[in-house]
Amino acid sequence: MSHNKNLAFDTKCIHSGIREYEHGPVVPPIYQTSTFKFESAQHGGSLFKGEQKGYIYTRMLNPTIEAMEDAISALENGHKALGCGSGMAAVHTVFSALLSAGDHIVCSEAVYGPTVTLLKTIFAKFGVETTFVDASNLDAIKSAIMPNTKVVYIETPGNPTLAIADLEGAAKIAHEANAQLVVDNTFMSPALQKPFDFGADVILHSLTKFLNGHADVIGGIIIVKDEETYKHFRKTLNQTGGVIDPFNSFLVHRGLKTLAIRMERHSISAQKIAEWLESHPKIEWVRYPGLKSHPQYDIAQRQHNAQGGMITFEVKGGFSAGETLMNTVKLSQLAVSLGGVESLIQHPASMTHASMGKEIREEANITDGLVRFSVGIENVEDIIADLEQALDKA
Ligand SMILES: *Cc1c(COP(=O)(O)O)cnc(C)c1O
Repeated sequence: MSHNKNLAFDTKCIHSGIREYEHGPVVPPIYQTSTFKFESAQHGGSLFKGEQKGYIYTRMLNPTIEAMEDAISALENGHKALGCGSGMAAVHTVFSALLSAGDHIVCSEAVYGPTVTLLKTIFAKFGVETTFVDASNLDAIKSAIMPNTKVVYIETPGNPTLAIADLEGAAKIAHEANAQLVVDNTFMSPALQKPFDFGADVILHSLTKFLNGHADVIGGIIIVKDEETYKHFRKTLNQTGGVIDPFNSFLVHRGLKTLAIRMERHSISAQKIAEWLESHPKIEWVRYPGLKSHPQYDIAQRQHNAQGGMITFEVKGGFSAGETLMNTVKLSQLAVSLGGVESLIQHPASMTHASMGKEIREEANITDGLVRFSVGIENVEDIIADLEQALDKA
């Protein structure tokens, strides 16, 4: 059942990764154990030599983690997946597996902040050089390629501008240079965007966001296309140690069952809210891939099955209007993170990026009235009414 490629995506969300277990549970049991008994010295030896399949130690492999990995691999049409302790552990594992001292990586400038920092600090320290580019411009990617470029790394839609990169074009450029295209697919999830269909070589996600979907787990995952890459990545993850645990894997696997219907609702509601915001007199501009005003609207239509739950907008009146909006919303909660069933709102200038200083913020396209909204699955009229009463005061 778990790898039947003929099943529709929403059916796969319910059934992928599920195997037969003792006593016939419908849901995979939580194997909350750090280690597994060998039947004999010979059995232990053959497991370690890889002659026989079986579980040894949870950092290496665990049935509950494996069930969740298989499920997500099936949803991305991958070969296998590797569960990680956080999205950043997934990013770190991918870079550790693919890059060596003297290598170069081309990275989209619109990626998750800590990914930028990881490259600029730890990987720079180990002799990996990074060029940051506007990945919505294929010429910029192409001209950043160097003879030692091993990886092109893209997150699309990007953060916080929701700029969209053409994955097919980026894959072509990467492959012509013998580099691999790695895609952070967190913002869309496999329900809305399948990077392997456009030529990506490796996909990763923060499970913390839409895949788990319930704001109660920190986790990450890497999906690969062939056994050789899988073995190399598994060895790297086993050595660096950033694995997910059985209970969090169980929660993610449970969250996946509603992924298709959650993403559908996030997208329908976000479209309504984005259109409503775009016509609101207190709003300067709205960025949402489902709006014709989005600079990469055409790519979004081609690359996404629907347009997702993330909206960025600029409230008129700058910093103080943004701050007032934060302090007057009632239903939407002020928090970082995204992709949960509850609506979350965030004003970078007064919150996450407050310590940065206005000039550096604006270099990163974070203007004073910029607001990032993660649309939840509450009734859309309630979400709009809440924003409306708050914008009246902003
Ligand atoms: C949150 C996030 C990450 C990092 O994930 P954590 O689970 O917080 O470590 C990476 N990429 C994107 C796009 C994210 O939104």
